[in-house]
Amino acid sequence: FRDYIDGRSPNETDLEIRVGNKIKLEAPKGSGALLVKNLYLSCDPYMRGRMRNFHGSYIPPFVPGSVIEGFGVSKVLDSDNPNFRRGDLVSGFTGWEEYSLINRTEQMRKIEQNDIPLSYYVGLLGMPGFTAYAGFYEVCAPKKGDYVFVSAASGAVGQLVGQLAKLHGCYVVGSSGTSHKVDLLKNKLGFDEAFNYKEEQDLDAALKRYFPEGIDIYFDNVGGAMLDAALLNMKIHGRIAVCGMISENNITSPVGIRNVFSLITKRIRMQGFLQSDYLHLFPCFLEDVIGFYKQGKIIFLEDMNEGLESGPAAFAGLFSGRNVGKQVIRVASN
Ligand code: NDP
Repeated sequence: FRDYIDGRSPNETDLEIRVGNKIKLEAPKGSGALLVKNLYLSCDPYMRGRMRNFHGSYIPPFVPGSVIEGFGVSKVLDSDNPNFRRGDLVSGFTGWEEYSLINRTEQMRKIEQNDIPLSYYVGLLGMPGFTAYAGFYEVCAPKKGDYVFVSAASGAVGQLVGQLAKLHGCYVVGSSGTSHKVDLLKNKLGFDEAFNYKEEQDLDAALKRYFPEGIDIYFDNVGGAMLDAALLNMKIHGRIAVCGMISENNITSPVGIRNVFSLITKRIRMQGFLQSDYLHLFPCFLEDVIGFYKQGKIIFLEDMNEGLESGPAAFAGLFSGRNVGKQVIRVASN
């Protein structure tokens, strides 16, 4: 990571690949640390927020010149921690590097299931999947028959929200930024309808077309103009889960939301949330979602980039919509 950026999307030159020093592949005695080989790294939009020197955030900014930190799946090569053994597969915060020394092991989770693709532990069974699960069940208060709208619907979070909503008996419409993604939403992920927001002149009219009777639940991954249009189209007592604002991540003066008055006239409950507030639900999440996956009730789309050197472009691609599904970097196979 080179330096802080503001007012524009990250690009791949904001990160640089460095050949590191040779390190001993061992966890120092008495450190409680793990020495891991990184197998899969996760590209997540929140990481962009850490490239801004903003200290009011829920997570500290990256330090320029340092190794990027993010979620990953790794294999333990050496452990000075009684809870982990050499050979264990783990998921949690690691570095964007081939080998990492992990000192903060409290949030490291051992991967117990070996019949599920390992990379899913940064996607379907990792932070994004959990965001979908906690956001949908805890924040949206869904009911069978609800009309649900999901933005950035083919992404890591959105694709699971839509599928959980379908399993719950809801009618689900997603928005995405290419016709290919729209096709995947309708023909692979089981959404009832989908549209390409980039082709719509008038988002309000588009939502009226797909929800003539209004929206019960809007799962908002993008903020900005889409949120404004959704506010106009909510039903009375509708719920908006404010998960992310990716359309506003890279601009210095956000689009003003003009339709906030709808919160009053329609008695809408609009709630921002962080998945990390719901971690007590993580075991239920794993049980439920692994169950759905094994029963063939849900699928998960990944966009796999090969090699650590593909990381900068993969990360930057999140902000242009280049990724189709969860963006992952494969660093090593095992
Ligand atoms: P995605 O896999 O959906 O990737 C990001 C996608 O966002 C892109 O593929 C693109 O899809 C869309 N996008 C990019 N720029 C814009 C824009 N200007 N306007 C509209 N859409 C845009 O990411 P995730 O599923 O991992 O994350 C989705 C959202 O959820 C993000 O806002 C993220 O910050 C948030 N989040 C929040 C969490 C929480 O705890 N609250 C936890 C995890 C994620 P397209 O081609 O469709 O435009």
